[in-house]
Amino acid sequence: MPGLSTSPPLPAPRACAAPLRSWVQSANRDDADFPLAHLPLCVFRPAGTDAIARIGVGIGQEVFDLRRAWRLGLLDTLAPELRRACAAPSLNALFAAGRAASRALRAALTTLLQEGTPDQERSASCLLPQSQAAFDLPAQVGDYTDFLASYNHAHNVGSLYRPDNPVLPNFSSLPVAYHGRASSLVVTDEPVCRPQGQFRAAPQDTATVFGPSRKLDFEMELGVFVGPGNARGHAIAVDEADAHIAGFCVLNDWSARDLQEWESQPLGPFLGKNFATTLSPWVVSPEALEPYRVEIARPASPLLKDYLRHAPSSRRASFEIVTEVRLCTQRMRAQGQAAQLIATALFSRDIVWSFAQMIAHHTVNGCTLRPGDLLGSGTVSGPTPGSEGCLLELTRGGRAPLTLANGETRTYLQDGDEIVLTAFCARPGLPRIGFGECRGRIVPALARD
Ligand code: CA
Repeated sequence: MPGLSTSPPLPAPRACAAPLRSWVQSANRDDADFPLAHLPLCVFRPAGTDAIARIGVGIGQEVFDLRRAWRLGLLDTLAPELRRACAAPSLNALFAAGRAASRALRAALTTLLQEGTPDQERSASCLLPQSQAAFDLPAQVGDYTDFLASYNHAHNVGSLYRPDNPVLPNFSSLPVAYHGRASSLVVTDEPVCRPQGQFRAAPQDTATVFGPSRKLDFEMELGVFVGPGNARGHAIAVDEADAHIAGFCVLNDWSARDLQEWESQPLGPFLGKNFATTLSPWVVSPEALEPYRVEIARPASPLLKDYLRHAPSSRRASFEIVTEVRLCTQRMRAQGQAAQLIATALFSRDIVWSFAQMIAHHTVNGCTLRPGDLLGSGTVSGPTPGSEGCLLELTRGGRAPLTLANGETRTYLQDGDEIVLTAFCARPGLPRIGFGECRGRIVPALARD
């Protein structure tokens, strides 16, 4: 698939009216990740309490408590069913209600949080600093599917194992995926225990060993939560799939490469993947991303099957999202050093299948997607050094260790290492849209009974 490694030209910035200001002053700063134009959703409770989980909305450095707002009558302009969904302890009912309901909630929240609202005093009583919030997973995820949609990732990894044939022919025909395990999903800051399993200590070995993984890796991905979904046997058309995208998050598909290499023949990922997958707590709405919507990077191909082909009017199915990976080792923390940026990529350049195409493909056989299901984009990897979204690529399979600023080196992750993934949209004249952090620290493997 030549030509995909080059960056498509970005459209000129659009003229933009002056942004709405919020009475929450931290939302008005130029570098605020959560301005009034954003309003990402989460599920949280006050840290250190066993209070019931409730839905929150990010605004500046605060989280706005929707359950409290509902109890105070601040959401009375919304339909009763939508109000009940706002008072739930997860986002599933809101996702099920669809995009029109989400837009109605977004409009009501914008009114409550903008400067000059008559309800400022009661609304202010719904705020909690984000630093005092403990987050849950945003939704109860019934099923989790992880795709492989970056040509560069497929090429870089394939080159390590099949130098003569790095990208398998099905990559250009369909968005490849495997079924993940929903029980492995954890929210940011949850420690990640080094998995144990069987693997070959060296590629030429005929015998395997058992023990803690020696090739523990991260994968920088974006995730999508499914909205209403489909009935069994009814496919979702590619140009109708946007209605089933409830929102986006950052996702770390932790991967034990040694376990994965041995077990994946011939059926694909299993224990090398399903010990933990970390999500950022915030769900970024398609409405917030709308100013950053761009065409998908994949050239329109006449060879593409009709069910995967966007109509010309819906080819703007990707988003100009910058992804970033940071690593902080135990020694860096002890020396008071900040996490070091080790990779950055551009989603719209580096992911060549749209989420709409993933949804169309997922359901074309009649498979059911349900509200709160999660789809991962696959590792977001760019074409140049430093844009690779995992250590397997960054270190060329461990042959070219990373040297960090403090002199430490890494091939794969060591106990105590912390990976911080984030993503954002930013352009002059447009509101900055931050995705929040997806953070996880490796802790030693559990002792076996
Ligand atoms: Ca993955």
